[in-house]
Amino acid sequence: EEQHQKIREKYHILVDGENIPPPIEHFVDMKVPGPILEYLKANRIVLPTPIQLQGIPAAFSGRDLIGIAFTGSGKTLAFCLPLIMMALEEEMKLPFIRGEGPVGIILCPSRELANQTYENVVTWCSALAKDGKYSQLNTVLCIGGISMSEQSHVMSKGLHIVVATPGRLIDMLEKKRFTFNNCKYLCMDEADRMIDLGFEDDVRNIMSFFKRQRQTLLFSATMPRKIQDFAQESLIKPVLVNVGRAG
Ligand code: ADP
Ligand code: MG
Repeated sequence: EEQHQKIREKYHILVDGENIPPPIEHFVDMKVPGPILEYLKANRIVLPTPIQLQGIPAAFSGRDLIGIAFTGSGKTLAFCLPLIMMALEEEMKLPFIRGEGPVGIILCPSRELANQTYENVVTWCSALAKDGKYSQLNTVLCIGGISMSEQSHVMSKGLHIVVATPGRLIDMLEKKRFTFNNCKYLCMDEADRMIDLGFEDDVRNIMSFFKRQRQTLLFSATMPRKIQDFAQESLIKPVLVNVGRAG
């Protein structure tokens, strides 16, 4: 435990909560699948950033998580990788058929951000599938201006991951284009912006669609009072990971 604390100090990581999972300084030790490691390396992502090295183990352990780290600190990978690994594990155990899934949702405050995040997820999933050993994971982008019929090639198979803006996701859930029967991972990216833009009630509404125990992650560059209150009511015994700027 003392060793873990030393690592956190080295990377300026503050943590709070009960039984914080240990930080892991290398992707290999996080059991990241080989093809993803290779893809990361090819894109000069060699070592996890501080939010990743403490956030990914926390998320992968199944805990609720509040991740606070400045812009450009690699938060996207910190919440996408655990979801991809979780979805992959389920798909490898028992392949999803049409109508099954999604395993997890990534909520973004804007179409642009959702689109970027979606591109990221699809790229990592394709890197995985290129290696014959791993299954193809299916991801849907759920934002205004894109209809589900445009994505029917994905919807005709099992669905693993949805990247969405709140309004369109609610619309899709109400129309029962997919259900949350098997959904157990909800991540809010840029939670500060999400609350500022008035999406708080939409997110609460989305949470009410979950049928089973849910792991909730909230990522933000800042932690204003409103986010603290929202986290307090929506997360269960979260691990808080707060990364300051070095120096
Ligand atoms: P944030 O959401 O925290 O603002 P992003 O997730 O958008 O940051 O990442 C910012 C940039 O850093 C992206 O170009 C991403 O590819 C890159 N990046 C992410 N993780 C790492 C890493 N471990 N090492 C090097 N670059 C990384
Ligand atoms: Mg970001």
